[in-house]
Amino acid sequence: MEIRYFDHAATTFVKEEVLKEMIPYFCMQYGNASSIYSIGRKSKKAIEVAREKVAKSINAKPKEIYFTACGSESDNLALKGFCYANKHKGKHIITSKIEHPAILESCKTLEKEGFEVTYLNINQDGFISLEELENTIREDTILVSIMFANNEIGTIQPIQQIGDICKKHGIIFHTDCVQAVGNVKVDVEKMNIDMLSMSAHKFYGPKGVGALYVRNGIEFDRIQDGGHQEKNKRAGTENVAGIVGLGKAIELADKNLENYNSKLTNLRDYYFKQVEEKIPNIKINGSKENRLPGNANISFEGINGEELLLKLDQYGICASSGSACSSGSPNPSHVLLALGLPKELAYGSLRVTLGEENNKDDVDFLVSKLQEIVKELREN
Ligand code: PLP
Repeated sequence: MEIRYFDHAATTFVKEEVLKEMIPYFCMQYGNASSIYSIGRKSKKAIEVAREKVAKSINAKPKEIYFTACGSESDNLALKGFCYANKHKGKHIITSKIEHPAILESCKTLEKEGFEVTYLNINQDGFISLEELENTIREDTILVSIMFANNEIGTIQPIQQIGDICKKHGIIFHTDCVQAVGNVKVDVEKMNIDMLSMSAHKFYGPKGVGALYVRNGIEFDRIQDGGHQEKNKRAGTENVAGIVGLGKAIELADKNLENYNSKLTNLRDYYFKQVEEKIPNIKINGSKENRLPGNANISFEGINGEELLLKLDQYGICASSGSACSSGSPNPSHVLLALGLPKELAYGSLRVTLGEENNKDDVDFLVSKLQEIVKELREN
């Protein structure tokens, strides 16, 4: 059976060019980057080349990039590392209700440790209110963490305006950019971003490697004890092959960003139109405009999303009923509830995230199967 993959927000395949660059670092150039002999130095050099590529992509300086093991680790390091190092300046953090668990759970930990967190609401289109943000800022606010693009509904927050507000008030601005990097242009200077998390496996790089950007001069503590790698901010022998893969993947994404973005936008809008025309009683979740090019999240009235997924799987269709991290959880998505969706519609959502290998034929196949299955499930 042919597999049709519509879950690129969960993860992507590794591009051949990326894998090709990684392979030598497994069996031949396997030296520890901290070793002084030649194959160790070659590993170190490869890491620094990747660091330059990551920095170039987001308009940062190489010394502002720290490699980690994933997006979740970058989020943890940004929030906890920053708060621990700056608690003498204040203990109030602002975030939103629709963040990824890596942010929300880090906030919970910080709350247990005496920090206070304000969770901003989102409106029915999926955006925070800049006015609410500004009204929430206090004397003791030290950090704002708002995701660039949401992993479930794809909405892109007004990042530059958030950055401007934070700068005006002298507050550090972190953004979870895991879903945005590789899909839309990110510029930390233009957008006044002080810290940013990313993860290679969301843009055709390998799993198990991420990066954190921290603007030069911002203090943060390491959260894992051990060796002095990554300028003493992230202990652990570097995943050289993974870092090389991240560097190559971000370079390829940058080269092809415009084409990729417009291909996915067209395909996504085609999917929306087809579903709207062919299936009654549906609701598109999140703004149709300011959203990631490949993200389409739709609720089907009277349908259980998990059942829908299982039926789609019988035809080789891979999609998601929410974020990969929360599937399997009996609770409806916190993001859809924050949008104001009734529980029934939140349970009936299907997230389709398009990518490199999808075409119109795939979307036609998906829509025809959706038509059949939704009708069948509604009749039962
Ligand atoms: N943040 C967002 C917005 C995500 O979508 C994800 C993964 O889905 C993460 C963080 C975590 O990234 P990783 O899977 O690399 O830990």
